[in-house]
Amino acid sequence: MNKENILSWIELDKKNLKNNYDFLRSKLDDDTMMAGVVKADAYGHGLVKTSRLLDEFGVDYFCVHSYEEADKLRKQDYGKPILIMGYVAKSNLKDAIEKNYRMVLYDRERLAEAKNITESIDETAYFHLKLETGTNRQGIREEEIGEFVSVFRENQGLKLEGIYTHFANIEDTTDHSYAHSQLKEYRRLAGKAEEVLEKRIPIKHTACSAAAMLFPESHFDLVRPGISMYGFWSSKETHAAYMLKYHENVENLLKPVLSFKTKVSQIKRVPAGEYIGYGCTFRATRDMEIAVLPVGYYDGYDRLLSNNSYVLIKGKRAPLVGRVCMNIIMVDVSAIENVKPEDVAVLIGNQGDECISANYLASTINTINYEIVTRLGCHLPRFVV
Ligand SMILES: *Cc1c(COP(=O)(O)O)cnc(C)c1O
Repeated sequence: MNKENILSWIELDKKNLKNNYDFLRSKLDDDTMMAGVVKADAYGHGLVKTSRLLDEFGVDYFCVHSYEEADKLRKQDYGKPILIMGYVAKSNLKDAIEKNYRMVLYDRERLAEAKNITESIDETAYFHLKLETGTNRQGIREEEIGEFVSVFRENQGLKLEGIYTHFANIEDTTDHSYAHSQLKEYRRLAGKAEEVLEKRIPIKHTACSAAAMLFPESHFDLVRPGISMYGFWSSKETHAAYMLKYHENVENLLKPVLSFKTKVSQIKRVPAGEYIGYGCTFRATRDMEIAVLPVGYYDGYDRLLSNNSYVLIKGKRAPLVGRVCMNIIMVDVSAIENVKPEDVAVLIGNQGDECISANYLASTINTINYEIVTRLGCHLPRFVV
């Protein structure tokens, strides 16, 4: 792949990733492990490139959603445990066990299948039991704990390596009473599981980014930060709650890792009175010069940004004019001197003194930064800078 030929790409700032990693580490006790949550192609940052950096920084553990993601990580041979937090197809279960993938557990059929497999192939299956504490997504209820955990007590081939839960209402509010009630429930249920098992479950974990940053009491043996590692606050509320709690200047604690860039493919003059793009949603009120850029909603640049955002060219804001197309957008460069084909345009990131953040795009289209970054096309090449 010749870099010159690439028209649209994503850059990963290694320094910023390290900054975020170090910041999160600084919140942890020495004996708390840190997992890199690299599901969704490392939140759109690129699974392989991102995990390689996290491995180099010393992350202890990886969390993914799918079996396929676990396989991609395994190819990199980091020698670190991988937890699959989503459903694994029945047809992949035996392979997942042979590959020592740790798997979320919340259904009894799965446990029975794993028991049969480990007996027939003499392997150990590692599970992390998911507890229902109020999110009602995955997770077993109190009355099921005895049944699940006793299977582990009685079968050498099945290891209950971890026990965890996930908060429902920690990012969306500065009122953390629901999260605290979940944490309390988690402690109680995990204690009950350990009583049944008659020993300690090695890895207790609950904390996503917001919990890891706000609540040391949620850390236990391992934290599972995703979004904060990539340099974003989970939400405005998390940001505000952190400030209130720690009275720290939070501006530069987390630094976005990703930039999304493209190159101008054409400069075009549009006379006053003419329309631009599908649906004739934009009409030039004066003679304009527009730049045509080779990105669109296919690349993860949301169509809702039509006529409602800007890109950076030569360090200046160039507003979108007309609809976002599948592979193309048009921007107004009338006020920017001397723009030429193959000039770099920044869709997310910094240029000169200007910045377009994923947070800004998210708020423009009424979604969350998570969605902006995870939807960036996986066909876009990722480069570490
Ligand atoms: C995605 C996910 C995380 C990470 O959440 P962030 O808010 O991105 O830190 C942690 N735990 C589970 C179970 C998840 O699904």
